[in-house]
Amino acid sequence: MVNPPILSAEQRATALVKALEARKRRADVKAKVRSGEFSIDTVLEIASNEESIAKMRVRELLEAVSGVGNVRALALMERLNISPTRRIAGLGRHQMRDLRREFMKTARDITPGKLLVLSGPGGVGKSTVASRLRATGDFWVSISATTRAPRSNEIDAVDYFFITEDEFSRRIRDDEFLEWAEFAGNRYGTPSVPVEEALLAGRNVLLEIEIDGARQVKAHMSNAITVFLEPPTWEELVARLVGRGTDSPERRAERLQLAQDELASAPNFDVVVVNDQVERVVEQLIALTS
Ligand code: ADP
Ligand code: 5GP
Repeated sequence: MVNPPILSAEQRATALVKALEARKRRADVKAKVRSGEFSIDTVLEIASNEESIAKMRVRELLEAVSGVGNVRALALMERLNISPTRRIAGLGRHQMRDLRREFMKTARDITPGKLLVLSGPGGVGKSTVASRLRATGDFWVSISATTRAPRSNEIDAVDYFFITEDEFSRRIRDDEFLEWAEFAGNRYGTPSVPVEEALLAGRNVLLEIEIDGARQVKAHMSNAITVFLEPPTWEELVARLVGRGTDSPERRAERLQLAQDELASAPNFDVVVVNDQVERVVEQLIALTS
């Protein structure tokens, strides 16, 4: 065991003053968090420059947030995989990002937008609903990146950002996706920066993504509203896929096979909406944000 350094009386007094100052500074920062003057983001920023704040326990910081008590702080840390004794300085890059997302704060006079995640089996009508919602102006609709080849009617940077496998892998490595998943042999991902910027600017945001992606978003952003779009009947789902005419019979069979598993996930969503009439679905989704 390493022996503690032997300090002179003067050094001990200096160390004591330093410790008292650090404690006072932590109390001051926590009071500002409590009053709403400082956001979690601000404190994480301060911690990158100030040792006394970097040494604060994450749990203490979270408990200072109005409305987050002891129990919620611990539950949140468990969900984000942060050990209960972790100090701010010990947080990993992903843990920092998740905390920032959890407490995303906008400028004082802007109410943050709501994040709606629309999922459901292929062919149920998600893109149709998403483009109608975009047209209403009530939502900013995220454009995903994909490794899938464009369909004849699709336009790059409008329907998707069509990118190569290598570019997709690079974006995963650089942590550029809010979520990503593989579906029917292709990869799809939501670029995180535009989504976060739109929410901070007070826009409601719509993600139209498959089921595993929706699960990932909910795990990181608990206030996201996940919506499962259901077909009125199985026969209608098959008819819509055939009617769309964009997939070969083999591809369609593969998508229908996947759709059976997808339909079983409806109970894991916050809301289930039946897509009988597009206009009715659009109204229901707008109502969810008010
Ligand atoms: P997804 O994006 O879920 O794969 P699409 O939006 O491409 O599905 O819709 C599949 C097909 O179903 C399209 O041809 C679309 O026009 C049609 N469709 C969508 N919603 C409805 C609806 N409520 N009633 C009838 N047809 C619909
Ligand atoms: P499609 O190839 O028919 O355009 O899309 C196939 C599936 O991928 C659909 O269920 C669609 O919602 C989903 N999808 C589109 N973009 C994303 C995304 O960014 N992330 C995830 N997880 N799924 C996506």
